[in-house]
Amino acid sequence: MEDISKLRQYASILMHERKKLEEKILRTKPYIEGSLIKRYTRCGKPGCRCMEGKPHGPFWYLSRRIDGKTRYTYIPKDRVKEVKALTDSNKEIRNARAEIRKITERLDSIFDQIVESQLVEFTKGGGKDD
Ligand SMILES: [Zn+2]
Repeated sequence: MEDISKLRQYASILMHERKKLEEKILRTKPYIEGSLIKRYTRCGKPGCRCMEGKPHGPFWYLSRRIDGKTRYTYIPKDRVKEVKALTDSNKEIRNARAEIRKITERLDSIFDQIVESQLVEFTKGGGKDD
């Protein structure tokens, strides 16, 4: 059996980590789903620079899964920064929630071990009243 005091220490570290993540969730900022991607294109016109290895772009798109299909929404250059912040915010929140779930699972198993370690086996004849 693992050292209970070490388990308590570990549990308290995890609880502290989870609390920080939970506070991050409480401060959730505006977000959008999907990810920002950039593309370069070739127009195909003879003599254009894109035909000599200098493609046009980058052009920015928001890539999202909608009804099982990937959809691309063109993002004008002047809104790229804003959309990037929104997709970053989404990633941050998703990661924090996934981490909270992982920590909670780990804590649950540690709590099991701590609680089980304190279980007293009742034996007849062992008590004062017998
Ligand atoms: Zn071109």
